[in-house]
Amino acid sequence: MSDITYVGLQEKLMNLNLLRLSQSVDQYCQKALDEKLSYSEFLSQLLDEELAYKKQRNCQFKIQMAQFPFRKTIEQFDFAFQPSIEKRKIQELATLRFIPNGENVIFLGPPGVGKTHLAVGLGIRACMQGIKTYFITAEQLVRKLTASLADNTFEQKMKSFRTYQLLIIDEVGYIPFDRQASNYFFQLICRRYEKGAVIFTSNRSYGDWGDIFNDPVIASAILDRILHHSTTINIRGESFRLREKKMFFDKKHKQ
Ligand code: ADP
Ligand code: MG
Repeated sequence: MSDITYVGLQEKLMNLNLLRLSQSVDQYCQKALDEKLSYSEFLSQLLDEELAYKKQRNCQFKIQMAQFPFRKTIEQFDFAFQPSIEKRKIQELATLRFIPNGENVIFLGPPGVGKTHLAVGLGIRACMQGIKTYFITAEQLVRKLTASLADNTFEQKMKSFRTYQLLIIDEVGYIPFDRQASNYFFQLICRRYEKGAVIFTSNRSYGDWGDIFNDPVIASAILDRILHHSTTINIRGESFRLREKKMFFDKKHKQ
């Protein structure tokens, strides 16, 4: 008789960090007996289960690390409310082809039209594919880079931003940058140029970017690199936030 015990088996699975299998091995052993599975079928089913579990955990981890301000998907976006957006363009972006190609996506439009929602939606999709993603506002980004100068970690910080396969820089232009901040932003864009994809959102049209960066020369150098390989989604429409507010007040009025 073999000296294999269930407890011993559990211990081995735990030691190998096969956490899911340690929970389901019991059920799979029974299934193999009941359905007279071949050795390879049995092994394949066990491994599929563990792989699916690891993939799911990896996605959750990637989503957590990305630091999204909220979790909303492309599927949750109401395209009927925003007819200025060509749905086909978003579907194409949702294939994520722009990420390995190191291309950029820019969402432009007034507040509340869904720029951040779409950027987060693409980011979540990327995380689900195991793509290392990071979300940050333009203001936070510059604040982090400026702070890193004080403790001599500027280079380290710059490098860390390069490690993300997808970087999302939200709200470019909400707050104008001074010359130094514009310079840091420019350096980051140069380092990612043609190497790593970036999604930007902005409430300012490209013509206004000279004002954001307080210098038309640096603004055009930044735009030149960003736009070289890029897709711009110009959203012209009503704010979804205002619609929700309006619906709330209309309802109250009727009562
Ligand atoms: P923006 O970044 O353009 O200011 P957000 O993406 O933050 O706007 O959108 C504001 C809120 O409205 C978010 O909660 C977002 O999920 C929601 N929203 C905006 N547009 C839509 C839409 N077309 N369908 C569903 N929700 C939307
Ligand atoms: Mg926004």
